[in-house]
Amino acid sequence: MPGKVKGLMERLRDGETVVIAEGYLYVFERRGYLKAGAFVPEVVVEYPHLVRQQYEEFYRAGSDVVLAFTYYAHREKLSLIDRERDLEKMNRTALRMAREVADQTGSLMAGNICNSNIYEPDNPDISAKIRDMFKDQIEWAVEEGADFILAETFSDFGEALLALEAVKEYGKGLPVIVNLAWHKKEVNGRPATIDGVEICETFKRLEAAGADVLGLNCARGPATMLPLIEEIQKCIKTPVAAIPVPYRTTEAEPNFQSLTDPLSGAPIFPLDMNPVQCNRSDIKEFGKRCMELGIQVVGICCGNDSYLTRTLCETLGRKVPASRYSADMSLHYLLGTSDKLSERHIRGEVRQHTS
Ligand SMILES: [Zn+2]
Repeated sequence: MPGKVKGLMERLRDGETVVIAEGYLYVFERRGYLKAGAFVPEVVVEYPHLVRQQYEEFYRAGSDVVLAFTYYAHREKLSLIDRERDLEKMNRTALRMAREVADQTGSLMAGNICNSNIYEPDNPDISAKIRDMFKDQIEWAVEEGADFILAETFSDFGEALLALEAVKEYGKGLPVIVNLAWHKKEVNGRPATIDGVEICETFKRLEAAGADVLGLNCARGPATMLPLIEEIQKCIKTPVAAIPVPYRTTEAEPNFQSLTDPLSGAPIFPLDMNPVQCNRSDIKEFGKRCMELGIQVVGICCGNDSYLTRTLCETLGRKVPASRYSADMSLHYLLGTSDKLSERHIRGEVRQHTS
């Protein structure tokens, strides 16, 4: 199968939309296989079969890409839990399984690098350290057969540029998507990265440095990400990516780090966000807007689940493997209309007392 699958850049050139399901850290945290706080993907080496299963599940939900779960599988994160010795094993295991599932399913496989959490503007020693972290992960991704690299969740322009340059240097010509996590900072009334680069300038400079796709992921929900995406589209010519978190962010609370509980007003990031989770209808709206705006790389980040990815893909007009089990309310005992239901249910005698 490798080599026969249509590549990322060909798909984009042909005007296709590419879906990337993300959010592994939260998926495995919810399921009890990953510790919140440090958020290190230990599950990759502790329970690899579950990661493989999750890859397959996101494929069934419609993801075009098996994204190797190497997010936060980097030196800084592993040092938090004294597991640096497992760095290479963790990366290679995640990549190898992703390649296998991609081959079995005819999907693309992406290597994944992300924010280091040690970046400091104008600190060459730290930048060199980060470049080394990227180099390792990029080289492993190349060796394990990645089709492209997704570099993501950078809050600083400087670190995003470092990542892009590292992929250009060590990625053996693989295409690269660079996505930023956009927070609340403004400079002179304009949205800016944490290191103070205005939004349009950020993306123009990354485009000039050779990114193949540029956009935003994580941090913001659909409602507060899409207006920024529209701005970005006006600044650059490369295809744009929008991979929000599935949470109901607002103008007052534009990223999920700032969200509060609608009932108590208490901060809820990152453990108590259930009350502001996007539902299927929210994701449908997101999918529709993405189509209207011509956003070519779409997906869902932290908080994602297979049913949301399936909803997104079906909104894009696709029938995916998991569509076999998409809802059919005609057979529902209260809401249904099928003549296979009992007379009493068809007459609505139960419904009027329950809904
Ligand atoms: Zn995320």
